[in-house]
Amino acid sequence: MKKAVIIGAGIAGIASAIRLQNKGYVVQVLEKNAYPGGKLTQLTGNGYRFDAGPSLFTMPNLVTELFEISGKNPSDYFKYNQLDILCNYFYEDGTKISANSDIHTFANEINLKTIDSAESVKKHLKKSKFIYEATESLFLSKSLHKISSFLSIKTFISVFKLPFLHIFSSMNHVNEKTFKDSKTIRIFNRYATYNGSNPYKAPGILNIIPHLEFGLGAYLPKGGMHEITNSLVKLAKEIGVQFHYNTEVTAIKVAHNLAKSVQTKTKNYDASIVVCNADIHTVYEKLIPSAQKLKKVDAQERSSSALIFYWGIGKEFPTLDVHNILFTEDYKEEFKHLFDSKTIYEDPTIYINITSKQIKADAPKGKENWFVMINVPSVFGQDWDAMIAKARQSILTKVSRTLGEDIAPFIEFEEQLTPQLIQDKTNSYKGSLYGTSSNSRFAAFFRHKNFSSKYKNLFFCGGSVHPGGGIPLALSSAKIIDKLIK
Ligand SMILES: Cc1cc2nc3c(=O)[nH]c(=O)nc-3n(C[C@H](O)[C@H](O)[C@H](O)COP(=O)(O)OP(=O)(O)OC[C@H]3O[C@@H](n4cnc5c(N)ncnc54)[C@H](O)[C@@H]3O)c2cc1C
Repeated sequence: MKKAVIIGAGIAGIASAIRLQNKGYVVQVLEKNAYPGGKLTQLTGNGYRFDAGPSLFTMPNLVTELFEISGKNPSDYFKYNQLDILCNYFYEDGTKISANSDIHTFANEINLKTIDSAESVKKHLKKSKFIYEATESLFLSKSLHKISSFLSIKTFISVFKLPFLHIFSSMNHVNEKTFKDSKTIRIFNRYATYNGSNPYKAPGILNIIPHLEFGLGAYLPKGGMHEITNSLVKLAKEIGVQFHYNTEVTAIKVAHNLAKSVQTKTKNYDASIVVCNADIHTVYEKLIPSAQKLKKVDAQERSSSALIFYWGIGKEFPTLDVHNILFTEDYKEEFKHLFDSKTIYEDPTIYINITSKQIKADAPKGKENWFVMINVPSVFGQDWDAMIAKARQSILTKVSRTLGEDIAPFIEFEEQLTPQLIQDKTNSYKGSLYGTSSNSRFAAFFRHKNFSSKYKNLFFCGGSVHPGGGIPLALSSAKIIDKLIK
């Protein structure tokens, strides 16, 4: 009997479990928390429901194919709607730019509200599509650490095209050359934050990300993001995967270059293969301690973290949509604070996600569930209590100024998620949302591989390893492992 043990029921761990069960393994998932999903979970209170972590859903095909390979009809388990408005952008001078998913409508909006032309937007999005098509087969579906990955003609062409994909310029440099208006530049620079990076340092190849929204679409699952976790766990259980909650793994037992078993406080689980969804830092710090490997992992800069206020708001604000951004006036300064001084900028860019705009059950009638997030540095021993109190006040002031109304009196429910809590809840080192950042030209190649060179039956999935963080990439890591395992 082939036995697979998965460490962690994050989205990548669940996807790996489904794939391995379909391969004929008997699969057990060991999760330290009392619930599945890791960062992709929810919270409720006072009649409000909030998605706790991810709010933007792209590439739904990576979810639906898990149902298809299990012989099920995806829509019997999981439904989602495409968003017409990708995001509403607000600026201090009162300008509001609505990013319609239709490229022509969005390009005309930019033409109307900024000094940039519709043509420049269309050209930029065409380039974004080109980068996606040139690199998808190399970065998203294969290990970068196997010679065999580079042997197909398609991949060879991808490698050949790399120098033409702005790998040696920063994202901001490319965007400043393409656009004249700081408003447009901020919109396109913001895509670096989709994997926790700094647009002033991350390579221009990250201009691939707008294509995910404008080309492939942005979606909202019916019932909220948490339904991604719920529906996949339902599927996994139906096909025979066993989940063990409140079960923290304390060690991976190895012998003769093989992972033999997985140890928890109470039990030892024998394994033919082990797939680790826990942050790679946890692996080398605790599960198979290795000072040398830990040093290598730690040498890479972590992605940014987040500070989130879940606010139940006792009023509806028609000017807001599902996704909203209130931009800082000095984006460069904000990123200097995040990645250099590791503090929070006094005028942060604020993201407000309101699922009740589409999912009426998420808030009581006439009210809204606000997920209010700012990017913050990962944990470096800062005085978080003081920083959070100050940031909360800056957010209240800026949101009230933008909406022309004091919002504080409408907050009738509040919870917070801090970098320290993200670290504690999911063992994500330093509270980073997306593992390591993409702030260097070759970050993609330095990110930890999906397999262990020393232990032949040990594999790694999730946001801290190749191809990186975010739901699509975490799901892609499970797909890569599927290809690596016989
Ligand atoms: C606030 C926030 C906003 C985000 N926004 C977006 C977004 O809009 N779109 C997007 O695509 N992505 C977003 N992300 C990132 C996204 O959530 C993650 O990249 C994705 O969920 C990665 O999942 P994962 O499986 O790699 O890791 P995780 O969700 O971290 O799962 C790892 C699991 O392993 C468990 N574990 C760890 N150590 C052990 C152990 N020793 N024993 C047993 N179990 C263990 C943890 O408890 C956890 O359940 C966001 C994340 C956060 C926190």
